[in-house]
Formats: sequence, C-alpha cells, structure tokens
Amino acid sequence: MRAFLPAYDMRQAGSLDEALALVGSEPGWRPFAGGTDLMVLLESGALPRGRYVSVWGIPELSGIQASPTHISIGALATYAQIRGEGVVAREFPLLVRAAAETGGIAIQNRGTLGGNIANASPAADSPPALLVYDAQLELVSARGVRRVPYDRFHRAYKEMDLARDELIARIVLPRGRSGWRECFRKVGTRDAQAISKVCFAAAIRLEGKTVRDVRVACGSVAPVPLRCVRTEASLRGHALDAGIIAEARRALEAEIAPIDDLRSTAEYRRRVAGNLLEWFLRS
Ligand SMILES: Cc1cc2nc3c(=O)[nH]c(=O)nc-3n(C[C@H](O)[C@H](O)[C@H](O)COP(=O)(O)OP(=O)(O)OC[C@H]3O[C@@H](n4cnc5c(N)ncnc54)[C@H](O)[C@@H]3O)c2cc1C
Repeated sequence: MRAFLPAYDMRQAGSLDEALALVGSEPGWRPFAGGTDLMVLLESGALPRGRYVSVWGIPELSGIQASPTHISIGALATYAQIRGEGVVAREFPLLVRAAAETGGIAIQNRGTLGGNIANASPAADSPPALLVYDAQLELVSARGVRRVPYDRFHRAYKEMDLARDELIARIVLPRGRSGWRECFRKVGTRDAQAISKVCFAAAIRLEGKTVRDVRVACGSVAPVPLRCVRTEASLRGHALDAGIIAEARRALEAEIAPIDDLRSTAEYRRRVAGNLLEWFLRS
C-alpha cells in the first residue's frame, strides 16, 4: 500500500554545507538523490517515515573529472552521464557496461552511482565493476572528508562504513589500466530490466602465460558485493593452465555464499559464477 505522504518532510539543499548540516542534525535527515530506490519503497509503503533532504544538483557531488592519475565521479552522476563520458568509456568499460545494463532509460537518467552504492543491495550491478577497478569512496561530513577503499565499505548485509552524518561525495578510480583484459556479465531472467541472478566482473594482467595480477568480483552471490580475494590469490603468480583454472573455479565456488530466493537458487548461482570465471579465464 502507498505511504501516507503527510508523514514525510522533504527539503532541497541549496548547498553541500546545508545538506551536511541537515544530515548531521538530530534526529537527522536522510539523503535523497535520484529517488529510484526510495520511491519504490514509498510506493510500497515501506519507506521509513521522516525527513529527507534532496542533494540533487549539489556541485561538489556532481560531474566527472579526470586528473593524470585518477577519474573522480560525483556520487550524483547518473548512469546516462557515465555512459556518455568518453574517458570513462575508454578506460573503465566495465562500469559503462554495468550502467548500460541497469534498468531502462528512465532509471538511467535519474538513478545515481552514489545511490546504487548507498542502497547497498548485494544484487546491484555497478559494485562488481567498481571492485575490479580498485575504487575508493570519498565520504564527506561536517567533520571533514575521508577516503575508504571500496572493497572495505560494505561490512555486512546493508551495513556500510558510512556514518549517519556522512554523504558519499565522489567515487575515485585510479587510471593506468593498459595491459588488463576485462569482462562484465550480468545474468538475469531476460536482457532488459532484470535484477541480476549473478553479476560478474573480472580483469586479468598476463605476462606470457603467467598471471601477474587479477581482480574478480561478483554480485548476488553473498550478503554484500563481493571482491573474491581467495579466488584472485589462487591465480596470482601462476601459469594460466587447465589445472589452475579448475583450482580457481573451486576457490570461487567455496568463497561465494549464494542463497535461494525468489529470483534464483544458490546452486544455480554457484554454477553460473563458476562458469563465468572459467569462460573468462579460457577466452
Ligand atoms: C525499475 C527499476 C530498475 C532498476 N534496475 C536496476 C538494475 O538493473 N541494476 C541495479 O543495480 N539497480 C537497479 N535499480 C536500482 C536503482 O535504480 C539504483 O540503485 C540507483 O542507482 C539508486 O540511485 P538513486 O540516486 O536513485 O538513489 P536514491 O533512491 O535517491 O537513494 C538510495 C539510497 O541511497 C542513499 N543515498 C543516495 N545518495 C547518497 C549519497 N550521495 N550519500 C549517501 N547516501 C546516499 C539514500 O538515502 C537511499 O538510502 C532499479 C530500480 C528501478 C526502480
């Protein structure tokens, strides 16, 4: 049932300082970005009653900037903006693939990368790409700014290293990715507008046949978006042959913790994740 609208308060922040003062006040205002997750909760009557501050349009949380060493993506960057930014498309194609396969055009025009991260769904599609790219999050509050490696941000199901008075300001990606081979695959019931049953992103850097470095990350297979560090360790420094690929598959299948739910089964998810890893390593 739809929520009772008078039970909510919404204010548009005129500046970052105003937004931070509101989220830091007692009992606190919750950030509202594109609203694509929050409005679904509102429509179903599941949105907690209270006060929401729209951060839409705040310059410090917007835009995509490139320095010689990093790309800095504002938390308010929409999927459409990410898809349309040449430097991201050239250097971080997995993120662009994830953006292109998120929802439909309306969602891509309104949903934001910061909102996708802070919503903390284990089935979200951009986190595996961000994990593969060693993303860091810039978090801002009235107390200051701090950086958190994204692979340490999600602590448990819907639990994050994000204080109540903090906003995700920017997502920072290190540049210099020549020599990596990469892939992104989203597996759902159909190609468009599906929530992932398994989302898989990986990148590998080979020297001859030897794995010099590797990243593997998955969505929908654990309580959090998962960087598969044990799978990576099983590959790093080894010659990429049939034996090591089989070992990596076993490591991945042991490392993930998928569940049965309305979209799929644990068994299917484990098998598909293993197939995708094997396909990536063999291709
Ligand atoms: C029809 C439909 C299809 C979808 N398809 C997909 C899909 O294929 N893949 C996928 O991954 N997602 C999908 N989504 C989910 C959604 O679009 C994304 O999670 C979106 O990126 C959320 O961003 P937002 O700006 O709309 O967040 P909002 O709804 O505004 O906020 C979401 C949460 O994040 C918090 N928040 C927002 N911004 C910040 C910030 N800067 N700092 C701290 N907290 C913040 C809010 O308080 C709230 O808790 C879909 C949603 C719909 C309705």
